[in-house]
Amino acid sequence: MKRLGSWGRVGDLPATLHLRVQRRDADLPPVSTLPVPLLPYGRGRSYGDVCQVDRGTLLHTAELDRFVDFDPLRGVLQCESGLSLGEILRQSIPRGWTLPVLPGSGEVTVGGAIANDVHGRNHPGAGSFGHHVEALELLRSDGTRLLCSAGSNPDWFAATIGGLGLTGLITWASLRLRPVANAFVHTRSARFRSLDEFWELSAAAQSEWPYARAWVDGLARGRALGRGVLVGARDAPALAELPAPPRFRAWVPPLPWSLLGAASVRAGNAAYWSAAGARQRAGVRLTHYERYFFAADRVVAWNRLYGPAGFHQYQCALPERSMREATQALLGRVARSGQRALFGTLQRLGDHPAPGMLSFARAGATLALDFAHRGEATLRLFTELDAVVRAAGGALYPAKDSRMPPAMFRAGFPRWEAFGRFVDPAFGSAFWRRVSP
Ligand SMILES: Cc1cc2nc3c(=O)[nH]c(=O)nc-3n(C[C@H](O)[C@H](O)[C@H](O)COP(=O)(O)OP(=O)(O)OC[C@H]3O[C@@H](n4cnc5c(N)ncnc54)[C@H](O)[C@@H]3O)c2cc1C
Repeated sequence: MKRLGSWGRVGDLPATLHLRVQRRDADLPPVSTLPVPLLPYGRGRSYGDVCQVDRGTLLHTAELDRFVDFDPLRGVLQCESGLSLGEILRQSIPRGWTLPVLPGSGEVTVGGAIANDVHGRNHPGAGSFGHHVEALELLRSDGTRLLCSAGSNPDWFAATIGGLGLTGLITWASLRLRPVANAFVHTRSARFRSLDEFWELSAAAQSEWPYARAWVDGLARGRALGRGVLVGARDAPALAELPAPPRFRAWVPPLPWSLLGAASVRAGNAAYWSAAGARQRAGVRLTHYERYFFAADRVVAWNRLYGPAGFHQYQCALPERSMREATQALLGRVARSGQRALFGTLQRLGDHPAPGMLSFARAGATLALDFAHRGEATLRLFTELDAVVRAAGGALYPAKDSRMPPAMFRAGFPRWEAFGRFVDPAFGSAFWRRVSP
């Protein structure tokens, strides 16, 4: 049986059965014949155990990948839940439509994007993925099918958006797209030397650059702590001539050890910092959407660079009132810990009513830091970081998590108890077993 793992590869568990769901109208086999719990599985782009079960059944949606219908008057696409966002864009952009919210990988499926209610670089203006879902069908383990939308089973709709695959299998969804002139964005890079500078720059950039995310140098220390590069983007207008799309792709084979030592990452960060200076001087650049939104996908299986021990991404959302102090404190603690954050990103999040009961994105900012898994030492640091996030009134992102304690989850997602009533009795995940009573 092929491994259906998580992106971080720390503590992956063996499912007993991988059931490939082949048609949206096909029923699931009777639950009594399947190892439980059941859990939908998209493409395993979640970093931790929201996409893992211990000896249950993964409902693999790789073959649920059909376009169903498109309404060009309203820009509404109906498709199956295993279709990837990248494949949607390959078909829709030449026809003048794009997805309004894009996470950092085009490999994410529609079902996975809904179940984690993913956010993109334009969260301040556009909200999260769930804000653009018009309707979906939920298949429960007892064979019932629920049509869910704002007007039909709205409580099931809110539980399933950000519902971590626990309310049932999403078979198809209708998504509201938005018009776009071509496959390019205008981008602009701006280096910042401190977090104070980042907050100022990112606030000023918002109206002109609706997409914005910063790279933060996770290895910077002392006076360089908090330095980084903010890259903003907006749709390019219709243009008579367009450059060729990027072709370059690299592939990382399985490696017996990590290639991401401190020296190589420090050299990479220094090179990125200095190249960003040149890009800043160059001003506005025309960039293909894949290169801007899905830069990481250009190195296929880049998660193997961390070697067989895997890695974690520590991602938190911090409310507006405490985001400045908390971000400074988090980076300071990482710097003092001797653990190295190899990659870091920081972006603002907007103030939108959450579409899902367990939606992660909320007004303020989100900081994400990648760490090689070094066992207890890494986990001890995370416990320290948790204390900062909790004191700040923040939350950790389930899509990136494989270790948060139950109290941390419940503090960050106060509607977890109400959500529990919508969990399908035959569904479950390693994450849910860990954080729920
Ligand atoms: C390089 C990279 C960049 C990323 N950038 C971002 C980002 O910018 N913003 C962000 O928010 N996230 C980001 N992520 C995280 C990613 O968007 C989420 O983890 C996403 O949910 C993964 O989708 P998937 O299809 O691989 O689902 P999986 O990881 O396989 O599953 C994720 C969850 O969705 C559930 N699920 C999957 N399909 C269905 C279905 N049909 N019905 C019901 N439930 C289902 C699963 O049970 C599981 O709980 C990034 C991940 C990577 C690897």
